[in-house]
Amino acid sequence: MLKTLREKLVNLLSKKWLHHLVILYVGGLFLLCAGLHIGNEMCLETEAAFWKSLVTTPEPETCVVCCNPHSPTFHAPCLLDLSTGQLTELMIYEPSCIYPGELAENQSLNHSVIMFTKSGDPLFIDRLKDIQRCVTYIPGQYEEPMNPAHYCRNCRAILARTATKGYVLLDLFRLDEIQVHPIEEGAEYNIRIYTVSVSHDQDSDHLTITNIGHLFTS
Ligand SMILES: [Zn+2]
Repeated sequence: MLKTLREKLVNLLSKKWLHHLVILYVGGLFLLCAGLHIGNEMCLETEAAFWKSLVTTPEPETCVVCCNPHSPTFHAPCLLDLSTGQLTELMIYEPSCIYPGELAENQSLNHSVIMFTKSGDPLFIDRLKDIQRCVTYIPGQYEEPMNPAHYCRNCRAILARTATKGYVLLDLFRLDEIQVHPIEEGAEYNIRIYTVSVSHDQDSDHLTITNIGHLFTS
Protein backbone atom coordinates (compact mmCIF):
# COMPACT_ATOMS: atom_id res chain seq x y z
CA MET A 1 0.00 0.00 0.00
CA LEU A 2 2.72 2.41 1.07
CA LYS A 3 4.81 1.41 -1.89
CA THR A 4 1.98 2.14 -4.32
CA LEU A 5 1.36 5.52 -2.66
CA ARG A 6 5.03 6.41 -2.91
CA GLU A 7 5.13 5.40 -6.54
CA LYS A 8 2.08 7.54 -7.28
CA LEU A 9 3.62 10.53 -5.49
CA VAL A 10 6.87 10.16 -7.39
CA ASN A 11 4.89 9.82 -10.59
CA LEU A 12 2.91 12.96 -9.80
CA LEU A 13 6.04 14.90 -8.91
CA SER A 14 7.82 13.88 -12.05
CA LYS A 15 4.79 14.89 -14.08
CA LYS A 16 4.75 18.28 -12.37
CA TRP A 17 8.40 18.73 -13.15
CA LEU A 18 7.72 17.69 -16.68
CA HIS A 19 4.83 20.12 -16.82
CA HIS A 20 7.00 22.97 -15.51
CA LEU A 21 9.76 21.99 -17.83
CA VAL A 22 7.42 22.12 -20.82
CA ILE A 23 6.08 25.52 -19.71
CA LEU A 24 9.62 26.83 -19.28
CA TYR A 25 10.67 25.42 -22.64
CA VAL A 26 7.67 26.85 -24.50
CA GLY A 27 8.01 30.18 -22.67
CA GLY A 28 11.70 30.36 -23.46
CA LEU A 29 11.08 29.49 -27.08
CA PHE A 30 8.39 32.16 -27.30
CA LEU A 31 10.67 34.81 -25.78
CA LEU A 32 13.49 33.81 -28.12
CA CYS A 33 11.20 34.03 -31.18
CA ALA A 34 9.75 37.33 -29.98
CA GLY A 35 13.27 38.69 -29.37
CA LEU A 36 14.45 37.56 -32.79
CA HIS A 37 11.34 39.01 -34.41
CA ILE A 38 11.74 42.37 -32.63
CA GLY A 39 15.47 42.42 -33.46
CA ASN A 40 14.72 41.63 -37.08
CA GLU A 41 12.00 44.28 -37.23
CA MET A 42 14.39 46.84 -35.70
CA CYS A 43 17.08 45.93 -38.25
CA LEU A 44 14.60 46.27 -41.10
CA GLU A 45 13.32 49.57 -39.70
CA THR A 46 16.87 50.92 -39.31
CA GLU A 47 17.74 49.85 -42.83
CA ALA A 48 14.52 51.35 -44.24
CA ALA A 49 15.22 54.60 -42.36
CA PHE A 50 18.76 54.70 -43.82
CA TRP A 51 17.58 54.25 -47.42
CA LYS A 52 14.83 56.81 -46.85
CA SER A 53 17.43 59.29 -45.54
CA LEU A 54 19.41 58.89 -48.78
CA VAL A 55 16.44 60.40 -50.61
CA THR A 56 15.07 62.84 -48.04
CA THR A 57 18.23 64.38 -46.52
CA PRO A 58 18.73 67.86 -48.03
CA GLU A 59 21.66 68.17 -50.41
CA PRO A 60 24.72 70.13 -49.19
CA GLU A 61 25.79 73.35 -50.90
CA THR A 62 28.98 71.65 -52.01
CA CYS A 63 29.09 67.90 -52.47
CA VAL A 64 32.31 66.42 -51.12
CA VAL A 65 32.67 64.20 -54.18
CA CYS A 66 31.62 66.22 -57.22
CA CYS A 67 30.43 69.77 -56.49
CA ASN A 68 33.63 71.39 -55.44
CA PRO A 69 34.62 73.55 -58.41
CA HIS A 70 37.23 75.50 -56.47
CA SER A 71 39.19 72.51 -55.23
CA PRO A 72 41.94 70.99 -57.37
CA THR A 73 41.10 67.97 -59.46
CA PHE A 74 42.49 64.86 -57.88
CA HIS A 75 45.01 63.04 -60.03
CA ALA A 76 45.66 60.19 -57.60
CA PRO A 77 42.93 57.86 -56.26
CA CYS A 78 41.19 59.11 -53.10
CA LEU A 79 40.08 57.42 -49.92
CA LEU A 80 36.66 58.52 -48.69
CA ASP A 81 35.25 58.02 -45.18
CA LEU A 82 31.54 57.70 -46.03
CA SER A 83 30.46 58.73 -42.54
CA THR A 84 32.47 61.93 -42.14
CA GLY A 85 32.89 62.84 -45.81
CA GLN A 86 36.64 63.17 -45.27
CA LEU A 87 38.45 62.73 -48.55
CA THR A 88 42.16 61.88 -48.67
CA GLU A 89 44.05 61.94 -51.94
CA LEU A 90 46.66 59.17 -51.98
CA MET A 91 48.98 61.65 -53.59
CA ILE A 92 52.46 60.71 -54.74
CA TYR A 93 53.53 63.08 -57.52
CA GLU A 94 53.89 66.83 -57.58
CA PRO A 95 50.88 68.52 -59.14
CA SER A 96 51.24 71.01 -61.95
CA CYS A 97 51.12 74.66 -60.88
CA ILE A 98 49.61 75.64 -64.22
CA TYR A 99 47.17 72.90 -65.19
CA PRO A 100 44.77 71.73 -62.46
CA GLY A 101 44.58 67.97 -62.22
CA GLU A 102 47.80 67.44 -64.19
CA LEU A 103 51.21 66.50 -62.82
CA ALA A 104 54.30 68.72 -62.86
CA GLU A 105 56.66 67.95 -65.70
CA ASN A 106 59.67 67.73 -63.45
CA GLN A 107 59.31 65.49 -60.42
CA SER A 108 61.90 65.53 -57.64
CA LEU A 109 62.75 61.96 -56.77
CA ASN A 110 64.18 62.43 -53.29
CA HIS A 111 60.95 63.19 -51.49
CA SER A 112 59.85 61.29 -48.33
CA VAL A 113 57.34 62.86 -45.97
CA ILE A 114 54.87 61.85 -43.27
CA MET A 115 51.59 63.71 -43.34
CA PHE A 116 48.27 63.19 -41.57
CA THR A 117 44.78 62.79 -42.96
CA LYS A 118 41.96 64.97 -41.60
CA SER A 119 40.98 62.12 -39.30
CA GLY A 120 44.53 61.94 -37.94
CA ASP A 121 45.69 58.78 -39.72
CA PRO A 122 49.32 58.91 -40.92
CA LEU A 123 50.05 59.24 -44.62
CA PHE A 124 53.54 58.13 -45.72
CA ILE A 125 54.60 59.50 -49.09
CA ASP A 126 57.76 58.32 -50.84
CA ARG A 127 58.69 59.73 -54.21
CA LEU A 128 62.06 58.08 -54.78
CA LYS A 129 63.92 56.81 -57.79
CA ASP A 130 63.25 53.16 -56.99
CA ILE A 131 59.70 53.45 -55.67
CA GLN A 132 56.94 55.99 -55.62
CA ARG A 133 54.18 55.24 -53.14
CA CYS A 134 51.66 56.56 -50.64
CA VAL A 135 50.66 54.43 -47.66
CA THR A 136 47.99 54.97 -45.02
CA TYR A 137 46.18 52.92 -42.39
CA ILE A 138 42.52 52.72 -41.41
CA PRO A 139 40.79 50.75 -38.62
CA GLY A 140 40.04 47.15 -39.65
CA GLN A 141 36.52 47.08 -38.21
CA TYR A 142 35.34 50.54 -39.23
CA GLU A 143 31.68 50.28 -40.26
CA GLU A 144 30.18 53.72 -39.66
CA PRO A 145 27.23 54.29 -42.02
CA MET A 146 27.29 56.87 -44.81
CA ASN A 147 26.07 60.31 -43.81
CA PRO A 148 24.12 61.50 -46.87
CA ALA A 149 24.35 65.16 -45.74
CA HIS A 150 27.86 65.32 -47.28
CA TYR A 151 26.80 64.27 -50.78
CA CYS A 152 24.44 65.30 -53.56
CA ARG A 153 21.74 62.79 -54.48
CA ASN A 154 23.54 61.70 -57.62
CA CYS A 155 26.73 60.90 -55.68
CA ARG A 156 24.77 59.14 -52.92
CA ALA A 157 23.43 56.77 -55.58
CA ILE A 158 26.89 56.29 -57.14
CA LEU A 159 28.47 55.56 -53.72
CA ALA A 160 25.67 53.34 -52.39
CA ARG A 161 26.03 50.99 -55.37
CA THR A 162 29.45 50.04 -53.95
CA ALA A 163 29.17 50.60 -50.18
CA THR A 164 26.96 52.25 -47.56
CA LYS A 165 29.42 52.17 -44.66
CA GLY A 166 33.12 52.39 -43.89
CA TYR A 167 35.49 53.59 -46.61
CA VAL A 168 35.58 53.50 -50.41
CA LEU A 169 38.29 54.24 -52.95
CA LEU A 170 37.43 56.87 -55.54
CA ASP A 171 38.87 57.85 -58.88
CA LEU A 172 37.87 61.49 -59.30
CA PHE A 173 40.18 62.29 -62.20
CA ARG A 174 37.14 62.68 -64.45
CA LEU A 175 34.12 63.94 -62.52
CA ASP A 176 31.76 62.81 -65.28
CA GLU A 177 33.07 59.24 -64.87
CA ILE A 178 33.51 58.81 -61.14
CA GLN A 179 34.74 55.31 -60.27
CA VAL A 180 34.06 53.79 -56.83
CA HIS A 181 35.82 50.69 -55.47
CA PRO A 182 35.17 48.82 -52.21
CA ILE A 183 37.88 48.78 -49.55
CA GLU A 184 38.29 45.14 -48.61
CA GLU A 185 41.17 42.92 -47.58
CA GLY A 186 43.13 41.54 -50.53
CA ALA A 187 41.70 44.02 -53.06
CA GLU A 188 43.94 45.47 -55.79
CA TYR A 189 42.90 48.12 -58.29
CA ASN A 190 44.77 49.42 -61.31
CA ILE A 191 43.73 53.02 -61.81
CA ARG A 192 45.52 54.70 -64.73
CA ILE A 193 49.18 55.06 -63.56
CA TYR A 194 48.42 53.85 -60.02
CA THR A 195 47.97 50.47 -58.33
CA VAL A 196 46.11 50.55 -55.00
CA SER A 197 46.17 47.47 -52.79
CA VAL A 198 44.52 46.69 -49.44
CA SER A 199 46.03 44.33 -46.85
CA HIS A 200 45.12 43.49 -43.26
CA ASP A 201 47.57 43.82 -40.38
CA GLN A 202 46.39 41.27 -37.83
CA ASP A 203 48.52 42.59 -34.96
CA SER A 204 47.12 46.11 -35.06
CA ASP A 205 43.81 45.15 -36.77
CA HIS A 206 44.31 47.88 -39.34
CA LEU A 207 43.87 47.87 -43.09
CA THR A 208 46.93 49.09 -44.95
CA ILE A 209 46.12 51.04 -48.10
CA THR A 210 49.10 51.24 -50.46
CA ASN A 211 49.14 53.30 -53.62
CA ILE A 212 52.07 52.60 -55.96
CA GLY A 213 52.74 55.07 -58.77
CA HIS A 214 54.05 54.01 -62.19
CA LEU A 215 54.68 57.40 -63.81
CA PHE A 216 58.20 56.47 -64.86
CA THR A 217 57.47 52.87 -65.86
CA SER A 218 54.16 53.25 -67.67
ZN1 LIG B 1 27.99 64.95 -55.81
